[in-house]
Amino acid sequence: MKAIPADRSGSAVAIPCSTNMDGGFMMVNEVAFGLGSNRSCIRELFEYGRMRAAVVGDENVYDYSLGNPSIPAPAAVDQAIRDILADTSSLAVHGYTSAVGDLATRQAIADDLNDRYDAGVRAQDLFIGCGAAPELVAVFRALAVPGAEVLAVAPYFPEYKPFVEGAGASFKVVPADVPGFQIRMDELEKALTKDTVAIILNSPNNPAGTVYTRQTLQELAALLEKKAADYGHPIYIVADEPYRELAYDGVEVPFIPTIYGDTVVCYSYSKSLSLPGERIGYVYVPEKCSDHDALYAAIAGAARAGGHVCAPSLWQKVIARCASLRPDLEAYDRNRKTLYEGLVALGYEVAKPDGAFYLFVKAPGGDANAFSEKAKEKDLLVVPGDGFGCPGYFRVCYCVSYEKIVKSLPVFAALV
Ligand code: PLP
Repeated sequence: MKAIPADRSGSAVAIPCSTNMDGGFMMVNEVAFGLGSNRSCIRELFEYGRMRAAVVGDENVYDYSLGNPSIPAPAAVDQAIRDILADTSSLAVHGYTSAVGDLATRQAIADDLNDRYDAGVRAQDLFIGCGAAPELVAVFRALAVPGAEVLAVAPYFPEYKPFVEGAGASFKVVPADVPGFQIRMDELEKALTKDTVAIILNSPNNPAGTVYTRQTLQELAALLEKKAADYGHPIYIVADEPYRELAYDGVEVPFIPTIYGDTVVCYSYSKSLSLPGERIGYVYVPEKCSDHDALYAAIAGAARAGGHVCAPSLWQKVIARCASLRPDLEAYDRNRKTLYEGLVALGYEVAKPDGAFYLFVKAPGGDANAFSEKAKEKDLLVVPGDGFGCPGYFRVCYCVSYEKIVKSLPVFAALV
């Protein structure tokens, strides 16, 4: 075996190989191999659900594992596609766009954000990306100076860890604020160091379904401003916002850049317009962000280093026409209320679900893995909270049919 120097995101690993290269072994990056060959717990459950559905029928499997939107994309999105394709005056429909995105698309998004938040967004502050995941990766790569630490508040989206570590920064977790799932400022203060370059916030939250209040965000802003002044460098909030439009009962989802200037927003239309497979969203770097121009350039450069050429051209044109559309949340809201009220009536302890399409539930007996295994025996698939940095809870993703929600309540009852 040849010795291959370790890179900063993982050492080399020898994998048995059928092509008899290098004595029957092939050298690949260990971290990359691990990520590619082990499915996430969520994907495992989802695949198990598909397998069970083939045996017992889809209607008998209560698969609450995966956050795939269950409401269709708005009709206006389909119409926009038809209109764009019907316009044959230009060949540019499927052509490359500027790497940072079409100006018309960026302007439409800026106009919409300004209408809603009076936030002073300019087209040149926006970078059109391929959904929140690659946008987050580009932002972490842009911020990953040597020794950099990035914090995430538990419970958090499990992919943050590989995104941050893959960018070459250290990933640190701020323990969860149980049971309200706001932010424990005392724990955050303990976690902050002079190496902290950013904290990831996700509100409305996956998996807790909670929304950070204006008061929480103001306290956070005060703490970060103080620490940034102490350390002599900015501490950015990276606001991961695929669920921004998914909030219920009129709850406020504050636009974080209006509370804390050093915020970079990673937005996605995956959930708000039910377009997860189309890969479209944006990064917003507010004009007042510290080192705005350098940061924007570094994000564009990090995306380039990751192979970004431009976001899908057709979808950029759709967003130029549909940036102000909002989802019809009626179906999610009905599921949310029925499941929340049903579980609480059964004695489950559930975080108050103000947003997104998840419930976060305390596992009876305290062991969420054991609960998930027991539930699996009854074809009820829920995700243990360990991967979200919050053991003892499990996640229920309620973007399924209403009939399934109702039919699953007796199964939950049998498991209390
Ligand atoms: N961030 C969170 C919190 C998510 O839940 C998801 C997807 O489920 C993503 C990011 C990735 O979203 P996208 O499809 O925009 O890449």
